[in-house]
Amino acid sequence: MTIIERYWPENRHIGKGATSEVKELVTSIRNVIEAYGTNIANRAYAEAMSDALRTEWAEDNGLVQVEGGHEWFVRFLGKTCICMSGGECGLAECEALGVPSLDHMSYWEAEDGRLVLVAQPYGLPNMRELEAWADRYDLLISVTVWSFYFPGRSLQIEVQRRGKRK
Ligand SMILES: [Zn+2]
Repeated sequence: MTIIERYWPENRHIGKGATSEVKELVTSIRNVIEAYGTNIANRAYAEAMSDALRTEWAEDNGLVQVEGGHEWFVRFLGKTCICMSGGECGLAECEALGVPSLDHMSYWEAEDGRLVLVAQPYGLPNMRELEAWADRYDLLISVTVWSFYFPGRSLQIEVQRRGKRK
């Protein structure tokens, strides 16, 4: 394989963070790759990073994790349901609200009442379905690869109602 050097210089990711301790870590990771392959190396990285990323993300965004459930979804979409005034709607979870099924969903709430839905799937095979849902309920969707569920593997999709953003 031909490597075009200008695209792949040494230390391109750690840059000024390349202290001897960090370089040793890089060497350790390369040794793990050599012995067990990239999959295990990525899993080890994810194991070490996941909790810290989740905590950092929640703090940066002023969010705490909540249970979710049907009532949460109703509020999230800015709707009301008879169950919220003691009636029985018989609807479970996000049923009948047209929420696309996405992997690894979690629900977050800010002190100011902002609700954030986070999904962390391994891919986004049906982006149009997600967009159609967002348009129907006036939702904003942001997608990054900086995920706390499985860093280095899963995407992070954050959904909020327009106008409820900070
Ligand atoms: Zn209900």
